[in-house]
Amino acid sequence: SFRGTGGDTLVFDIIRKELERQRHGIELIASENFTSLQVMQAMGNVMTNKYAEGYPGRRYYGGCEFVDEVEQLAIDRLKQVFNCEYANVQPHSGAQANASVMLAVLKPGDKILGLDLSMGGHLTHGSPVNFSGKLYEAHFYTVEKESGLVNYEELEQKARTEKPKMIVCGASAYSRDWDYARIRKVADEVGAFVMADIAHPAGLIAKGLLSSPFEHCHFVTSTTHKTLRGPRGGIIMMGKDFENPFGLKDPKGNVRMMSNLLDMAVFPGTQGGPLEHVIAAKAISFGEILSEDYTAYAKQIQANAQAMAKALVAKDYHLISGGTDNHLMLIDLRNKNITGKKAQETLDKAHITLNKNAVPYDDKSPFVTSGIRVGVPAITTRGMKEGHMQTVVDLLDKVLMNIDDAATVKNVSEEVKEFMRQFPLYPELG
Ligand code: PLP
Repeated sequence: SFRGTGGDTLVFDIIRKELERQRHGIELIASENFTSLQVMQAMGNVMTNKYAEGYPGRRYYGGCEFVDEVEQLAIDRLKQVFNCEYANVQPHSGAQANASVMLAVLKPGDKILGLDLSMGGHLTHGSPVNFSGKLYEAHFYTVEKESGLVNYEELEQKARTEKPKMIVCGASAYSRDWDYARIRKVADEVGAFVMADIAHPAGLIAKGLLSSPFEHCHFVTSTTHKTLRGPRGGIIMMGKDFENPFGLKDPKGNVRMMSNLLDMAVFPGTQGGPLEHVIAAKAISFGEILSEDYTAYAKQIQANAQAMAKALVAKDYHLISGGTDNHLMLIDLRNKNITGKKAQETLDKAHITLNKNAVPYDDKSPFVTSGIRVGVPAITTRGMKEGHMQTVVDLLDKVLMNIDDAATVKNVSEEVKEFMRQFPLYPELG
């Protein structure tokens, strides 16, 4: 139970409050989800006690036979999920997965080319405040001002002039599919690796609902806790076991298979002991993804996102790129005269959680922003269907249209609680 058995009621009481918060709120944070109970249970298990530096069958510690078994199962299931030839399930997070790939193939000072953070990219794609911008020389492509779509011409032109060692595609706040083939084409022309960071849409890619990066990109990284609905963590994959096209060497000067270089970049490159209890939970979630239920879930995410986009546009909300192909939308609130910060803070009071987000070419600071990002993976897990999206948008709109009216916001918070009662969350926990 979530009350624990050790007597530290202080902490377990706080966890209990978080459970209640999750139960009665409308969760629209695009990067969040609710794992199954078995995924959560697997995270609280005896494997947290085990050191297992190395990989299944080649560890630096004794007693690894069972963690070997669970890690191999996670690897095999993940390969099946994406039909890929290489998988590493050890990265503790998405950021560490990206750090490991970069460590494997780049030298400090090498050039990388990624989507600008303020246009929807991620910190680890070259931001100056992140290791990726401090260790490597980062260049950026943008999205087009009018269409909100990735500016592929600019990407190609920058690739040709800067000749980066790596092109990074994927994003945290981009609602459209990617043209991986086009990116690979220019990468081949200039001798760059391509890394696709599919942290956000991975679940939809797994079920063939968006284009697959695997046949075009050398490396694919992801988190496991967003659309994939697993425990918090990272993964690294390769579609084919690419045979080190640029003859990269390990620290001893030997040319190695790309898979060896990636494994070495995770451990010992950026991490020590793997979190085998989390890897056990990853194995469970990958098993769930292979099920028909998850296929239906992924399709429902896309249907809900479409329905929500339609309901928002009908209320004159300005969606960047006009709509969505995946699970999220980025809304520019300037026509409503509301900042992202104010929207986030007020919606929070009504138990509708989302995040403020810069919109492309934003004139406000990243702490204020002109926009909000909304996503449907979590509410889809709660059981919502297309028809519920109108209610969610009505509640959100009521808060935003009465943003300085505390009484209305309070009323909506009650309406939200009442509405969410029909979507039970972890009833087994009492
Ligand atoms: N990559 C992308 C595209 C993301 O959106 C995120 C998380 O928001 C990450 C990487 C980082 O994942 P983590 O928070 O697990 O380090």
